[in-house]
Amino acid sequence: MPLDANFVFSQSALQDFVDCQRRFELKYLQKLRWPALQTEPALAFEHLTEMGVQFHRLVEQYLLGLPSDLIAKQIADPLLQRWWESWEQQHPQAISEQRFVEVELATQIAGHTLTAKYDLVSIADNGNITIYDWKTSENRPKDVSLQQRLQTRIYPFVMARAGATLTGKAIDPSQIEMIYWYPNVPAQPAHFRYDATKLTADELYLEDLVNQVLQRNAGEFALTTDEKRCKFCQYRSLCDRGVKAGNLAEMDAELEEDAFEIDLDSVTAIDFD
Ligand code: SF4
Repeated sequence: MPLDANFVFSQSALQDFVDCQRRFELKYLQKLRWPALQTEPALAFEHLTEMGVQFHRLVEQYLLGLPSDLIAKQIADPLLQRWWESWEQQHPQAISEQRFVEVELATQIAGHTLTAKYDLVSIADNGNITIYDWKTSENRPKDVSLQQRLQTRIYPFVMARAGATLTGKAIDPSQIEMIYWYPNVPAQPAHFRYDATKLTADELYLEDLVNQVLQRNAGEFALTTDEKRCKFCQYRSLCDRGVKAGNLAEMDAELEEDAFEIDLDSVTAIDFD
């Protein structure tokens, strides 16, 4: 079964391929969803995921102009309440001439579409572009881990290639900055600047990565050798990598060292890339 000729790549799909080729195959070629619990306890995982989805919705409402007190009235859950208080007290001040909320851009790479969906893009009069992404994980990974995540490369890359549809003029990559903001650690946002050198390197890297995917047939996608990834993977029963789910506390520890994240896309079918 080859990959669909119209397959649209995203940072989460390519991150799956980098983390474990087999996971990419099961998820995107075979289109298998949720054959096993991802973590224990399952209810806590579901709750964390659902709160992540709701937090993104609340912030979207806020950025689209709904008054904060009306938004706060929707909140019943204590975790969501805590995150919302963080937002109200310390959210990034994206004061700029133009703001785009939940906007999606796309470019071409190796003959396929590569998309990025941004929580918030802020464009200043001087052409500076700031990409914001809200992260509801318990811990904030180290910058060195975040720098290696494909999202940190792909979001500025797609912006540099396709952002002219927002700005109306060619993009200078050095004017792009990406910021991750964590309601659990609101005073420590992670900042990553972009430039032309990174754009060239990312173009080569991503083209090679997409070609690696395209060159594989079903059955040729290797299982990861890093078996700690399997503890939190829904496919472990299919890979003979255990039937017992990892627990949430362990996941937090993994996150600290490897920027492991709950995949909101898989759980909700809502793309919060
Ligand atoms: S269980 Fe492990 S080997 Fe199998 S898809 Fe998941 S991460 Fe890959």
